[in-house]
Amino acid sequence: MNCHETHALLHAYLDGELDMVSDVALAHHLDQCPACAQAYQSQQALRAALRTSALAFPPPAHLQRRIRSAVRRASRTDTHAGVWAWPWLRVGAALAAGVLLMWSVESLWSGPAPEDLLTREVIAGHTRALMATHLTDVTSSDQHTVKPWFEGKLPFAPPVQDWAAQGFPLVGGRLDYLGDRPVAALVYQRQQHIINLFLWPATPDEAPGETRRTRHGYNLIHGTTADMTYWVVSNLNMRELHEFVSLVQQPVLPSRTP
Ligand SMILES: [Zn+2]
Repeated sequence: MNCHETHALLHAYLDGELDMVSDVALAHHLDQCPACAQAYQSQQALRAALRTSALAFPPPAHLQRRIRSAVRRASRTDTHAGVWAWPWLRVGAALAAGVLLMWSVESLWSGPAPEDLLTREVIAGHTRALMATHLTDVTSSDQHTVKPWFEGKLPFAPPVQDWAAQGFPLVGGRLDYLGDRPVAALVYQRQQHIINLFLWPATPDEAPGETRRTRHGYNLIHGTTADMTYWVVSNLNMRELHEFVSLVQQPVLPSRTP
């Protein structure tokens, strides 16, 4: 089995859906191939992170309010309508609440847009790094140490800069796996806040511009530079996080000889 086949079958392998022969062949390939083993471990860690309570969230407040007020409305009608109507109204209210709940859950979970999926992966990557004490593979505030560390580990050279002078010191870097591709994760700090900057080469079809979002207490900014796609995630406030992104967007200066 080659790397291409392994990648195609990795999810099925993790789900235990492969036949015995493919299962053994894939396990054998993972033993032999560090790149695929890394992808396998990332997928496994991602699944574990998605299962933890840190990423689970309660139903949105507006949904709870709507169900409550639907039930209240029904019970008000109940007292006016008299004793004959009440069982049907109760059933009606329960059905309405059920339909509302199903609709809301469906709109939350059915077929999230690829970008939403990526948002979840970015947050999972960030929390996984924070939880698993695996923040960095290479720990250094020196861009001349971190940048060469990626050589040969990724099919591209991520721009690495230290912004200590601007209040965002470089902590280090690590490999991560997002949206079915290996990516560079650069770790920065702002006071006690950790910032993960994920980078990979931009594709020509990517729309320019920047999106900001807040999910589960994390702020995320996503955009493209001249040649890189970036995702920035942190619990730092949006204003300072955007200050950081403006540094990311600056063209990389030719590096000094150390
Ligand atoms: Zn391989």
